Amino acid sequence: MGKIQCSPICVGCTILGMASLAAIVGLWTVQLLPSTESRDEPWKSYRLPDTLVPTYYNITLWPRLHPDAYGLFLFTGKCKVVFTCLKETDLILIHCNKLNLTSFDGHLAKLSAVGTAVAPSIQKSWMQEVTQYLVIQLKSKLRAGEHYELYTEFVGELADDLAGFYRSEYEENGEKNIHDGKPVTVTTFEPTKSMSSYLLALVVSDYTNVTSANNTLIRIWAREKAIEDGHGDYALNITGPILKFFEDYYNVSYPLSKSDQIAVPDFYFGAMENWGLVIYRETNLLYDPLTSSNANKETTATIIAHELAHMWFGNLVTLKWWNEVWLNEGFASYVSYLGADFAEPSWNVWTQSLYLNPMMHCGKMRQN
Ligand SMILES: [Zn+2]
Repeated sequence: MGKIQCSPICVGCTILGMASLAAIVGLWTVQLLPSTESRDEPWKSYRLPDTLVPTYYNITLWPRLHPDAYGLFLFTGKCKVVFTCLKETDLILIHCNKLNLTSFDGHLAKLSAVGTAVAPSIQKSWMQEVTQYLVIQLKSKLRAGEHYELYTEFVGELADDLAGFYRSEYEENGEKNIHDGKPVTVTTFEPTKSMSSYLLALVVSDYTNVTSANNTLIRIWAREKAIEDGHGDYALNITGPILKFFEDYYNVSYPLSKSDQIAVPDFYFGAMENWGLVIYRETNLLYDPLTSSNANKETTATIIAHELAHMWFGNLVTLKWWNEVWLNEGFASYVSYLGADFAEPSWNVWTQSLYLNPMMHCGKMRQN
């Protein structure tokens, strides 16, 4: 990544590509829960039918961090989802929103069989925008117990809209970080555990980090200057003890091999507990010992404890449907005080907990 000096009036910006919440896999959920809605036109129902269940997704994304000739930031991608048919059906519904899908022989996806099954031909495919589905009607039925693979390619806009795969920018020191002339780097991720799709996140950025590793790799990511100035150190120092506390409290090991936490300047929500990559509004994760208030430090400790509590409660054990999200938030809020108290026993956080709003942190409360 190259850096150029700009005049003071030049608005410096760096572009982050990020996906969170209902992000990539959220766009590509085949089926999670049974539907009680009418079967007449299932694509008009917001609840997915109970005929198919996803096994895994293999997704490739290429965000363009410079605008094209029309001033648009785009990303391209391809997605393979392998799924199992639970009940025979001639209909595939898959969440898809604001993507231009590549056409294959006049259809918006390719269907193939896995193993001995024979894949039906596609009769018709279209985008159902209101309910955000790609709808695929087949000429014959998928068979229960068989596995199939759905393949799509797409172009989307990396918009500054905090939804799906989106763009976030920040200014720093009148410098504009650019990516011209550099080869594209491909990053390949390990398969995730089976998880709710709203918890997936990835970030493309020029950030640096501070790190520590015991059993779990812990990293705090932020703007280079913020890391240089030590603003990530407090979060780093308390994350290890809080994770250890929750491991003992839940009596379950931390479920992942790493714990990343990242500070995003204009993140709309207080924080979001994406599994293994928690995203925070910058002021909630970073702490400047020279200028931050004690209240700020307390907020940082409590929110970190809240989000890390979700790594087990909410992520490892996930709600069945959104009407149970209060369980996620209520319990994470309760144990956040236990975690913060463990990290900072001299604060007596329990004496203040009555005054705090337990639902203030997590993004999904307002997104879903
Ligand atoms: Zn929460």
